[in-house]
Amino acid sequence: MNQIENPTPSETSIKLGDVSFPHRKVWIKTYGCQMNYHDTERLLHHLEKLNFAPVEKEEDADLLIFNTCAVRDLANQKFYSHLGETKKFKDKNRTKEVKVAVGGCVAQTEGKELLKKYPQLDFAFGTDVIDNIGDMVYRTYAGDEKFSITTWDKTNDYSIETKIAPGTPQAFVNIIKGCDKFCSYCIVPFTRGREKSRRLQEVVNDVKKLVEYSGIQEITLLGQNVNSFGKDNSETFAQLLSALDEVHGLELIRYTTSHPYDVSDELIAAHGTLKKLAPHLHLPVQSGSNSVLERMLREYTVEHYLELLEKLRKAKPGMIISSDIIAGFPNETESEHRDTMKLLDQAQFDFIYSYAFSVRRGTKAARMEDILTDDIRGRRLREIQAHQLGIQGKLRAEMVGKTYRLLVDGESKMHGITKWKGRTTCNRIIHLTNIPENVSLKWHWLDVKVTSATSLSCQGEMIEDYGTKILRA
Ligand code: SF4
Repeated sequence: MNQIENPTPSETSIKLGDVSFPHRKVWIKTYGCQMNYHDTERLLHHLEKLNFAPVEKEEDADLLIFNTCAVRDLANQKFYSHLGETKKFKDKNRTKEVKVAVGGCVAQTEGKELLKKYPQLDFAFGTDVIDNIGDMVYRTYAGDEKFSITTWDKTNDYSIETKIAPGTPQAFVNIIKGCDKFCSYCIVPFTRGREKSRRLQEVVNDVKKLVEYSGIQEITLLGQNVNSFGKDNSETFAQLLSALDEVHGLELIRYTTSHPYDVSDELIAAHGTLKKLAPHLHLPVQSGSNSVLERMLREYTVEHYLELLEKLRKAKPGMIISSDIIAGFPNETESEHRDTMKLLDQAQFDFIYSYAFSVRRGTKAARMEDILTDDIRGRRLREIQAHQLGIQGKLRAEMVGKTYRLLVDGESKMHGITKWKGRTTCNRIIHLTNIPENVSLKWHWLDVKVTSATSLSCQGEMIEDYGTKILRA
């Protein structure tokens, strides 16, 4: 296969081997989790070398890529319907030679079927070959027949360099891929493979480079189960956090997602001592019923989960916890559902992502006989969400009058008024009310006092502007 060199993006054509690459435009639609969004950043990075520039509008593009998610039913349905429409789009733009590709989790499990079903599709690629996009695009423009590449990387190593979107001080850093947990409702172990961690020192060197050469100040460590990091190399996630805490110029470390089974005492202690670690943990619980957790194959009990929260909040007073909940797992009884409602009161989550259960083909849960209807699931989901909003309202009200540090990341429009907004170190969004219209605060670190709050949003006033660089030496 042709190896892609490193040409600089150019307004004029570049030639690689026998193929000419004029300046082209790529449109990427990303579905699903932060891992997928980060994969999209990697795709764009590689495509720049083939003279592609990203565009917002599909109609401006020469290459359309769908980066798919197999976890959420809604995202899946939207993807299939959008992919269907690309046939018309391709027919209409015959002169432009539009190419269409599907990548990510759906392509990993259904790549060949998609190619058969959708004649407009040129190629499909799985989650383990994201970094080979250059070769795949080369092949398609060289005139290769349709192809699907969904092979797994068979080596035990996982070694990459982080690719970032330029111009922001925030970066996602993959530290582990795949998952060994096999929860009964989840397709991820089949679409992302078994766990493989990067080596601790490689991640630290990578982050040092990001800080030194790209001005990165805030990182989010990514993986399906980050706190399982390093198991295959006798390294631990807490050790990685401690090493990153020492990186000069790095201000804030976030991470997602965690599995309660792998939250160690060492990690809890790190939350109490490390100065750059965000005081927030997203810790999916999924259900408040032990019998449902058992059917989900989650490997912990409600009691164990609550004990973890207690220890975390003791190690780091004021620690913010968020979670995921699935409503209506197969055959969930009313009593099991009420256990989940009770857990919301006990856990006092700052926010939750909640979903009605939907079947994922190929999982154990898909083979369970199920007596629940969509109506029951919908009703239980609404009850969970309404209850959680009440809890959030109280927690947000307690924020009023307190001061938080945040990084301004953009503007929001509410009732026709544009306001600067940012995410606090503990992961709450605050909209700023006392900034004159002509002042730009993008990527400024601020201290902000919360002036009002509802269960869904907070307003605050800037009390200190540190500019685009602060904090610790
Ligand atoms: S821990 Fe469970 S839910 Fe999370 S990715 Fe792994 S299998 Fe899926």
